[in-house]
Amino acid sequence: MTLDEKIAVSTIKNAIRGQFTSSRPHATKKCQCCGTEIGFRDHFIGSICWKCGWEQDLIESDSEKSSMNYNLTPVEYRKLYNEVVNGEI
Ligand SMILES: [Zn+2]
Repeated sequence: MTLDEKIAVSTIKNAIRGQFTSSRPHATKKCQCCGTEIGFRDHFIGSICWKCGWEQDLIESDSEKSSMNYNLTPVEYRKLYNEVVNGEI
């Protein structure tokens, strides 16, 4: 596992513990990575998904590396998320 992946895993674990739950959002939109509705106050870009911990970025596809998410693509990040949820890592 790369260092970027290790940091992503710790972010995912923090998300699962409830660290990114937003209070009193003004609007909701689907997370670019997991598709869950997430609430945000002013800007969707930069909002962190309460469920998976992905920070919404300016990326345009599932296979684009996100500089805001440890240079992982949504595909790579989802794989790590599923591995954490399944207790594999
Ligand atoms: Zn998400």
